[in-house]
Amino acid sequence: MNQLTPDLLDAPGPLLLVPDAVLLPEGPVGGYAVVVADGSFRAVGPAEELARTHPGLDAVPLPGHLLMPGFVDAHHHLTQSFGSALAFGEPSEIFRRVWVPLEGALDEEAAYVAAKLAALEALRGGFTTVTDAGTRARVDVDVVASAARDAGIRCVLGLVCNDVQDDATGDGPGTTGSAEDTVRATAVLEGAEKHLARYDGDPLIHPSLAVSIPEAATPTVLQGTARLAAEAGTTVQIHLNEHLAGVERSLLRHGLRPLEHLHRIGALGPQLLAAHATLLTPRELTLLADTGTAVSYNPVASAWKGNAVAPATTMAERDIRFGLGTDGTRGDGFRLADAAEFAQRIAYGLATGDSSCGAGWTWLEHATAGGADAVGLGARTGTVAPGLAADFLLVDLTHPELALSWDVPWELVRRGNRDQITAVFVAGRLRLWHGRPVGWDGPALVRRAAELARTTVEKAPITRAHPTSAEARQRSAAL
Ligand SMILES: [Zn+2]
Repeated sequence: MNQLTPDLLDAPGPLLLVPDAVLLPEGPVGGYAVVVADGSFRAVGPAEELARTHPGLDAVPLPGHLLMPGFVDAHHHLTQSFGSALAFGEPSEIFRRVWVPLEGALDEEAAYVAAKLAALEALRGGFTTVTDAGTRARVDVDVVASAARDAGIRCVLGLVCNDVQDDATGDGPGTTGSAEDTVRATAVLEGAEKHLARYDGDPLIHPSLAVSIPEAATPTVLQGTARLAAEAGTTVQIHLNEHLAGVERSLLRHGLRPLEHLHRIGALGPQLLAAHATLLTPRELTLLADTGTAVSYNPVASAWKGNAVAPATTMAERDIRFGLGTDGTRGDGFRLADAAEFAQRIAYGLATGDSSCGAGWTWLEHATAGGADAVGLGARTGTVAPGLAADFLLVDLTHPELALSWDVPWELVRRGNRDQITAVFVAGRLRLWHGRPVGWDGPALVRRAAELARTTVEKAPITRAHPTSAEARQRSAAL
């Protein structure tokens, strides 16, 4: 045990932190320190050297701790947090039956509280960045920005830019090619442009665009959002090739799979963040590699509601850009990295005798730096390096699960979990201490969320196919 206290770390001024080890891109290094100032890492190097070059700073020793980059969640839906278990056991395309009705029932307070609850869970799980794929709640998206900012987490904030409302997206009539459609597409792109300019200089909020699925937007909007995002250096988030039903609808409509359709109209590219991409042909892997398109590999979502597991080990081998995403399933970065490796082994490694399957470092790297790159923040976060945002974790290595160490990266992936996180920093500030937020009342938020979730779900027209697990047990006993 050590005597580390939060008041040593919750300081607005520069900090000289001296942990047992720092996790650098090449691996963990002992005897290193970092200087944190103005929200960023000012220096990273040998502790003695930094003490000498920063004589005005008192070193804060962090005995028993590893300083590592915070996790980046490359795919989330912050305003779906009230309904997490409502999706359990459901067949695919849950968005039609659960998520769109649930988000549609959120008022402004409920949307704020839901997003802040998700942000708190993410921070507790070691995420310092979350990527929101765009709320379907009928509120200003700035409500989600406020929730993330107030919680103290970095947020890539998607704005939904759908301009087709049809049965496939769960909303109503489709396009007819009329003048009204042109007006709608123009209005959507104007809104997108405003959103991208809205958070200039914000230290935590990074605007992004989103289209729910390719079917939800016309080629005009798919091309326009791609152009706007590329110009702004941000992303367009699209759920892509996730479910068999969606792939087959695209084949019937366009003669092309969804990813091929986006390629045909020129919407692939480094600005695209494709969520899931689980159903990929060899040809589509080549398209991803050739165009620099990024993917959010969401292994827990695959297990809970998917049709397949994205071929992430192959993506890594082919230098396809990808991060790891929760898709709102559960907010624990260590369990996500573990699931990323586990799913690859079950889906691909066992069949081929690949006992390494990317080893630990692949999944840790894509949970941090790879994720930052995929969500358009590679120059801002994801790595402990001078000039990058000081988004990091202090992980206690003295627990029995991690103390006897032979391979830190792989141990973090397989044996780490949120209990071992002592502190979470975002933009250089202490945001979480032993699972509790710093400077605001986490338990009060959770209590309010529980109240609002009950009233929101009661009024939402949700359709579930699966009963609760207790009911399922009773039914199976009655058979
Ligand atoms: Zn999603």
